[in-house]
Amino acid sequence: MPLMTGRQYLESIPKMHTRVYIRGELVPNLVEHPELRPTFNAIALSYDLAHEPENESTYTCRSHFDGQKINMFTNIHTEPDDLVRRVQQLKNLTPRHGGCVGARCVGSDAINAIYATTYDMDMKNGTTYHQRVQKWLKEVQEKDLAVSGMVTDAKGDRRLGPSKQPDPDVYLHVVRETPEGIIVKGAKAHQSGALHAHENLILPTEAMTPDDKAYALAFAIPADAAGITHIFESPACTLRRSLENSDIDVGNYKYGVHGASLVVFDNVFVPWDRVFMYGETEFAGPLVGLFANYHRLAFCGCKSGHCDLILGALQVSVEYAGLAKTEHVKEKMTDIMFNSELSYGCAIGAARFGSRTPAGVFQPETSLVNAAKLQGGKAVCIAAQQAYDIAGGLLCTMPSEKDLKSPVIGAYVNKYFAGVEGVKTENRIRITRLIEYLSGQSSVIPAESVLGGGAPETQRVMIRAMFRRKSKQLMARAKELAGINE
Ligand SMILES: Cc1cc2nc3c(=O)[nH]c(=O)nc-3n(C[C@H](O)[C@H](O)[C@H](O)COP(=O)(O)OP(=O)(O)OC[C@H]3O[C@@H](n4cnc5c(N)ncnc54)[C@H](O)[C@@H]3O)c2cc1C
Repeated sequence: MPLMTGRQYLESIPKMHTRVYIRGELVPNLVEHPELRPTFNAIALSYDLAHEPENESTYTCRSHFDGQKINMFTNIHTEPDDLVRRVQQLKNLTPRHGGCVGARCVGSDAINAIYATTYDMDMKNGTTYHQRVQKWLKEVQEKDLAVSGMVTDAKGDRRLGPSKQPDPDVYLHVVRETPEGIIVKGAKAHQSGALHAHENLILPTEAMTPDDKAYALAFAIPADAAGITHIFESPACTLRRSLENSDIDVGNYKYGVHGASLVVFDNVFVPWDRVFMYGETEFAGPLVGLFANYHRLAFCGCKSGHCDLILGALQVSVEYAGLAKTEHVKEKMTDIMFNSELSYGCAIGAARFGSRTPAGVFQPETSLVNAAKLQGGKAVCIAAQQAYDIAGGLLCTMPSEKDLKSPVIGAYVNKYFAGVEGVKTENRIRITRLIEYLSGQSSVIPAESVLGGGAPETQRVMIRAMFRRKSKQLMARAKELAGINE
């Protein structure tokens, strides 16, 4: 089957019955809703780019099953080059939309993690999960479906594991088995693109103990399955879309909504052939660890692309303000690029120096990818901080589009927020609104850049573990050089 186009993707959504609430109201037509449409646009763009000859090598590849052309987002990575292209793809894609394509991107990472881990589980336990994943994935590749990756549980009291929580539902779990499948209850929080996806791929959120059998759970489910409700995010920038009904004030009109939701599973039925893990607590940790490695790798391409977009927007802004030749401004821009490229390069290194799992899936190198992820989050924060400085007070004191266009006061706004002669004040305001959006003055980007892919401490833990693994060897080298013989 040929790859889907953006239009076909947009047409496929109304055929589903995904249940979405925004500010307490059920949304009748998802694709037309002003707060949902931007994320649909970004995902549609990711479909369209795969059809452009100049993007073919970035957005498409050959299925490892049968060599058919598939979208990169549904690929199983078998070579270091696949991982390198994954990073490059997001570095290329993010600056084109400045939003989020979690409905494809996080899913890609979950697909690779579950593919590799089910193979290991079957080898050890004689189960048949890997076959089920293969069957499901073949359909995903053939139909070019959008798959979101669902990992993060609600988690309740952070001191307690899944089976110790006073409310058992704060971690998604099995409540009942039937001859046909399992019934699950609980929720997944902060789910990027889950409601924009055709399929949701669910993984456990953390390592588990033998008591947590009902929670060691992985499965695939259509986003509109009976019993699933998506409760949509409502950050300040997205809210502004409804209040203002204006294209300038939202900064990134076409694509700029992140698109995450709280996904509630109220006794949802999952047929056995879609269950990919159930009760194998010892594999929950390795599965989520592998997912994290893939997702942190992709994150670096995405965030470096985001920094590129900020750089472009800032350059326009300083040219409009007559600051393009100012030395300290150039220095600050260099600082943004330096920090962004550091993460990007480190991610490419993690891709190149990864290793193959027993299933033949290529995974990123752990210490490099965790360092790259930490640096990527830092780069976005540094870019935002520099943007506050470079863009000036206009960034947070801009009047609205209605003021700009008012017959009474519009002339004042035009006159006093003008920059260099010949530049329309409206354009200066437009680019500053984009910087406002990109630098997180009104968006989810800073928090997402710190927390997406796991809170920073989880990367530090992995880096510490990798250091412990190497420390004996490193100490031995140091002692040898220092002439210590013990
Ligand atoms: C915009 C956005 C999009 C996202 N998209 C997705 C997605 O598509 N799919 C998905 O699965 N997830 C997604 N996430 C979730 C993301 O992975 C989590 O936000 C992250 O793992 C942190 O979890 P939390 O938000 O529950 O924060 P918390 O777990 O509450 O963490 C808050 C702080 O508490 C610390 N902490 C928490 N528990 C402990 C503990 N037991 N011991 C010590 N310290 C602790 C953390 O280190 C952190 O500093 C997204 C997040 C954001 C912000």
